[in-house]
Amino acid sequence: MNSHYLTSSRTNPVFYLFRQTFSENFDWQNYDLEAVHQTAWQEFWELEGHQLLEHKWHKRFPEYREQSESFNSEEQALWLELWEKHVNNLTAKFWHILSCASENYRNDLEKSFGQEETIEDIKECFEDLNFSKKERKKKKKTSKKFAEKTEEESFLGDNEISLDFNEKEQLRLLGLPTSFGSQGKQNLKKLRNLTDSSSNSEDEDDLIMENESTNQLHGVQKGFISKKNQRKLNKVKILAAKMPEFMRDENNRKMIKYWMKRFSLFSRFDQGIQLDRESWFSVTPEKIARQTSRRLACDLIVDAFCGCGGNAIQFANTCGRVIAIDIDAKKLAMAKHNASIYGVSHKIEFIHADFLQFAVGTKLRPDIVFLSPPWGGPDYQKQSTFDIEQNLLPVGASHLMKLSRNLSSKVGFFLPRNSNMTQVIALSGPGQQCEVEHNYLDTRMVALTAYYGEGLVKAN
Ligand code: ADP
Repeated sequence: MNSHYLTSSRTNPVFYLFRQTFSENFDWQNYDLEAVHQTAWQEFWELEGHQLLEHKWHKRFPEYREQSESFNSEEQALWLELWEKHVNNLTAKFWHILSCASENYRNDLEKSFGQEETIEDIKECFEDLNFSKKERKKKKKTSKKFAEKTEEESFLGDNEISLDFNEKEQLRLLGLPTSFGSQGKQNLKKLRNLTDSSSNSEDEDDLIMENESTNQLHGVQKGFISKKNQRKLNKVKILAAKMPEFMRDENNRKMIKYWMKRFSLFSRFDQGIQLDRESWFSVTPEKIARQTSRRLACDLIVDAFCGCGGNAIQFANTCGRVIAIDIDAKKLAMAKHNASIYGVSHKIEFIHADFLQFAVGTKLRPDIVFLSPPWGGPDYQKQSTFDIEQNLLPVGASHLMKLSRNLSSKVGFFLPRNSNMTQVIALSGPGQQCEVEHNYLDTRMVALTAYYGEGLVKAN
């Protein structure tokens, strides 16, 4: 029996997590993913649905709150009808987004268990080959259309709820605007944001993604850059110029991606957050760090590889005291500075040490040890499954677990998204269970967090 849980936060990027208990005899073959999806949806909608509906309703119709007292009965009926449509539209929209996330979760899990293609999958491919040319063309066209629509819909924003004819009529009757955030307006907003130094990371993300596809196009249509694309390229240049000096090198394009995400790494980035080059790749995005800190709330926690402080800062909000360890004194100094920006440095003790030695020598007995060791830079993504015994630094996962268990039986382990799940489960020890949260930002998996130890793993 396994437990499933899904939650999100309402602001961009939307954060979802799937929580699941695993043991060594986890039976992948009989794992009912459809049931996971259903349960996850029910739990999520029960927990967050109502708040989501209200939040988006008031954002869309700010006048409703102010004027609701003075509505006559006809207006009340119209508003009610509008509310029902709003509920239906949003439920369908979130169902769709979560279906995409669930499907990704399924694929990601399958991959991390090293699941081979089944006979059924192969049969399906052969069936595909048996289509006549005409049928194949038709099928391709439909699936392309569907894929485009799916992609479009999965990134729908607050203002992009499509209005049907009746709804427009109803809005007109209520004297409300009938177009919300038209494409034109959004593009304008996007451009305005981009020229503004405190621009929102999400809009910039769109731009870099569009720009990447523009660059791919250049390989095919050499020499032709439309005015529109040229403008976009210029904007990217402007953005690149705002990056810190050490990030500007021959890999400019690669680093821009990280720069775009600065506000999802630290929401207070523009208050003076300090990060060195390595930390841009490795710091935990704030929403994930916040979730982990809620999960690991306790009196005393050790953050064994604190880096620039992404996790330690969040732990300081939920734990009595945080011991933040790092082998690199410069990173530790940055972590201290960053913690002061969040007003929590007084709750963290920064220790300059090698965790491998610290764990052997210390008499400290924290409630929980949190491990977020080096993954070896962004190259971890190139492997289909990440071997946590061979590729983690400075030592394999089992060794790190053994050291940590000298301090506490409860351990949280932040691992690459493509980690070998069989190895992740094996760390629980014989006959024991672990709980794994797969962390998604929008519909993409960013990382996974595994929890070990009685009292930390939630009982089924
Ligand atoms: P990644 O490989 O994921 O980019 P980093 O190289 O940034 O991760 O490593 C995470 C942090 O762990 C860094 O701040 C690094 O200084 C620290 N670190 C590495 N080895 C040790 C160690 N033995 N003890 C404590 N901290 C360490």
